[in-house]
Amino acid sequence: MTRHDPVLISGCSSGIGAATAAALVRAGHTVYATARQIETLADLEALGCHPLALDVTSEESMIAAVKTVEAEHGQVGTLINNAGYGEYGPIEESDLGRVRDMFETNVFGLARLTQLVLPAMRRSRSGRIVNIGSMGGRITFPVGGFYHATKYAVEAISDALRVEVKPFGIDVILVEPGMVRSNFESRMNESLEAGTGADGEDTAYADLLAANEKNATGSYANDFIATDPESVAAVIVKALDSARPRSRYVVTSAAKVMINLRRFGGDRVWDRAMRKQFGL
Ligand code: NAP
Repeated sequence: MTRHDPVLISGCSSGIGAATAAALVRAGHTVYATARQIETLADLEALGCHPLALDVTSEESMIAAVKTVEAEHGQVGTLINNAGYGEYGPIEESDLGRVRDMFETNVFGLARLTQLVLPAMRRSRSGRIVNIGSMGGRITFPVGGFYHATKYAVEAISDALRVEVKPFGIDVILVEPGMVRSNFESRMNESLEAGTGADGEDTAYADLLAANEKNATGSYANDFIATDPESVAAVIVKALDSARPRSRYVVTSAAKVMINLRRFGGDRVWDRAMRKQFGL
């Protein structure tokens, strides 16, 4: 079994990050579980994870976290770039300040943390970078355009990086979950309320937003479509324990079906499916 320890994970206060930290420490990995609010990591610490404060929008915070791990182990063995959230809204009505903040976390935070761990990985000629992308980096739903843009960016960064760092013995792995029950949905709903006229009074897209809400609620409640963070964690454990990990892991059958529909159906089929789904 290949081990690239210690593992540093961003965004472990809830959801996929918390489940992954728990699964990896149970599998015997050395895990640095991080969050903006370190007190949210008490349960993971009880399981044996090392808790660390980490805000991926803060240069000082990222440098401090990487330095702590490197001081104790020489290098980060595996970086899991998980921190992220969805700022939702129709393109026309989205608040671009809030959209920029999302890019800062989902794209620039991931990129900067990666830059910080790479020199030590290159020196030892070993390491793994796991980026939590999304099926939303392969397919796009209306109302999610800016969130999808961050995940398409993660795809491009991962594809370039994978080739760039292979000669140094470093693997880059993209994990592309479908719908996962976590705090993601409630944060998406908060963003819709805060960032757009989602109350139906100030928006030209009231019907679209209502359809989006109905679709999201229905999908997250549907066991054939949505899964729990533990399923994503299990895939990540498998990828990390594999001697030759794949470059991409799509999680959930529903995500695989939708990615294939998009890929083989082309724009016409996809747009028709979206218009039907959103009543447009
Ligand atoms: P979640 O439960 O909301 O977890 C998101 C995590 O990101 C939280 O720990 C949050 O910490 C952290 N975070 C946000 N901003 C941060 C920052 N500036 N610095 C450090 N941490 C920050 O949602 P999740 O579903 O587990 O999301 C994890 C990843 O999976 C995200 O990248 C998301 O895009 C991706 N994903 C989710 C789904 C889904 O349907 N849920 C599907 C595909 C991909 P705080 O508590 O401090 O905010």
